[in-house]
Amino acid sequence: MSSIIYPITNLKATEQLVIDRGEGAYVYDKSGKQYLEGLAGLWCTSLGYGNEELIETIATQTRKLSFCHMFGGKTHEAGMQLSDTLAQMVPMDNARVFFGNSGSDANDTQIKLLRYYFNAIGKPEKRKIITRERAYHGVTVAAGSLTSLPVNISFFDPPVEALGILRTDHPHYYRGRLEGESETAFVDRITHNLEQLILREGPATIAAFIAEPITGASGVIVPPPGYYEKVRAILDKYDILFWADEVITGFGRTGSDFGCNSMHIERPDMMSFAKQLSSAYYPISAALIRGDMYEAMVEQSTKVGVFGHGYTYSGHPVACAVAGKVLEIYQRDKLFEHAATTGAYLQNRLAELAEHPLVGEVRGKGLIGAVELVADKASAKPFDGPDVINRAALQCQENGLLVRPVAGTSLAMCPPLIITREQIDELIAKLSQSLDETL
Ligand code: PLP
Repeated sequence: MSSIIYPITNLKATEQLVIDRGEGAYVYDKSGKQYLEGLAGLWCTSLGYGNEELIETIATQTRKLSFCHMFGGKTHEAGMQLSDTLAQMVPMDNARVFFGNSGSDANDTQIKLLRYYFNAIGKPEKRKIITRERAYHGVTVAAGSLTSLPVNISFFDPPVEALGILRTDHPHYYRGRLEGESETAFVDRITHNLEQLILREGPATIAAFIAEPITGASGVIVPPPGYYEKVRAILDKYDILFWADEVITGFGRTGSDFGCNSMHIERPDMMSFAKQLSSAYYPISAALIRGDMYEAMVEQSTKVGVFGHGYTYSGHPVACAVAGKVLEIYQRDKLFEHAATTGAYLQNRLAELAEHPLVGEVRGKGLIGAVELVADKASAKPFDGPDVINRAALQCQENGLLVRPVAGTSLAMCPPLIITREQIDELIAKLSQSLDETL
């Protein structure tokens, strides 16, 4: 037993699997047993394990310059280049980039950028943020207040009210629909609720609406067609910014470059990234805002002095160098196109599992998907607690497949972008066998 306090873990049941090494789409435990990484680590190891180009990039940059902070405008080539590459890639207007270390701190940064920006343009009252039920945006005190999953907020008392966090419906048709309600009627109802919330609170007090284009941690929920178009129209009507949390969906995951493009979200005002930005070879995150928001911040800083937000490791040179190489590999090896074709194959193969007696719903897009397990297929009755889902995940592990039980209801898949069709066949075969053995 080590001295670690394990993250997101039932503290009574720690150290259940000791991973020793990784290669390509596989990891190995101490005994040498092989596991297919069905969740790309934790939705992040897009280029798999042991990538020599990335190892070389890390070694070269570490030898050259192992650290350089960015306070006061001190900087380095790797960081400047990465920010420009990112700004050119994203579907935003003249994006500006703030670097951090994790998805949670990127979202914390965004909250502070919002405040700084609205103070700068003389609208200090515009500071509330709308998040959705079942959202996951991280676990720090501020980002954790945007998260809605009970397991992440119960007993931690996040300062939701102090931060002005509001919650609206989650767009999960399978679980959220009323009896007999069509998808269109469901979207109309929940977007109407959003508009009512805005009117109740006062549009002038609301800064932004945050959404994962497709959620990860709450079970890979793909909203119905038309949902984001309706949301965006309402936000535009009331002058509220769209903040896309692409910590999971960024960089090819959903079968196109960004989740926003897959889900028809036009030109978001803010975007958050981490995970696949560096394929998890080094921790790095990026909070992006529109260029004109940045210009207003510059004006404010000209008046008041230092913009006082930043981390020691903002723009860590080794993290920036490896992220730059990762983005280069995505383009060079056409991995977003690969994710589109192998993603379509994964979705077709996953759809076969809809017939399984334990499976209530199969969901996904591109190389991200989930199966929701139910106690009764006909009525969609969920299981009482997470035991069956946890058991199914352990059964997958037993069979050499790592997937993640999420939200107490579903098994999530998010394999590395480099996965092959044969490995997808292996994933489906192991998942299917494990579900049979869970019955
Ligand atoms: N935002 C989203 C959408 C996430 O899925 C996650 C993590 O899974 C985070 C933020 C938090 O990222 P991190 O765990 O790097 O703090």
